Amino acid sequence: MRKPIIAGNWKMHKTVGEAIDFVTSLQKELEGWERTEVVVAPSFTALASVAERLRGGRIALAAQDVCWEEEGAYTGEVSPLMLRDVGCQYVIIGHSERRAYFGESDETVNKKVKAALSHDLNPIICVGESLEEREHGDTFRVVEGQVKEDLRGVDAEAARNMVIAYEPVWAIGTGKTASPGQAQEVQSFIRGLLSDMFSPALAEVIRIQYGGSVKPDNIDELMAQPDIDGALVGGASLEVGSFARIVRVERG
Ligand code: PEP
Repeated sequence: MRKPIIAGNWKMHKTVGEAIDFVTSLQKELEGWERTEVVVAPSFTALASVAERLRGGRIALAAQDVCWEEEGAYTGEVSPLMLRDVGCQYVIIGHSERRAYFGESDETVNKKVKAALSHDLNPIICVGESLEEREHGDTFRVVEGQVKEDLRGVDAEAARNMVIAYEPVWAIGTGKTASPGQAQEVQSFIRGLLSDMFSPALAEVIRIQYGGSVKPDNIDELMAQPDIDGALVGGASLEVGSFARIVRVERG
């Protein structure tokens, strides 16, 4: 049985003080809650302070990006070694905003995924089609290409710890959620790809999240789908009440 995983991607929001206040309130809201794995992804500047506040608790820490190199002359980059050092257990890789605005390609995603896994950092790997690709009937071809390229050469044992986030680009920050049926169709397809690339047994344990305008009022129907194992939440993760409600989802 896959444990649901709900991750909040804060993007470029919250100062260090705001981040600390947020996780302090979230810890109180979720006291005693064990049924869902909870992850927050603050900006780099808040990671160390948030890690300190989360120490010994159940909420896990993620970064929003990582470099594929361990150290060296890579101005502005942060390495997997540094993220582990500061207390991260997860890292979001290949978010569509990084692909669209910062030149992230499947090749760089693949390098980052391997670097993360080799440092015991669990990658949350984002894939998903644009509106144009969906309207042209290219959704499955695009997602298949991303999954195959992003995971090329990834070791099967290490793959167990990764999370795939299916995030249709047209649903991110737009208020348009994929219907539960649309998300399930693609996520079941992704599980089939994982089964072919690794093994049916491994595909059964890898968690696949849905992301794209997830809110308290649509999480239940999304999570009722057999291949939706959690959510990557942007906007609705910035407010404690809505994020805590999403975390408290009962798997259907
Ligand atoms: C995201 O940034 O990964 C995301 C899904 O954002 P939102 O929930 O705001 O659509």
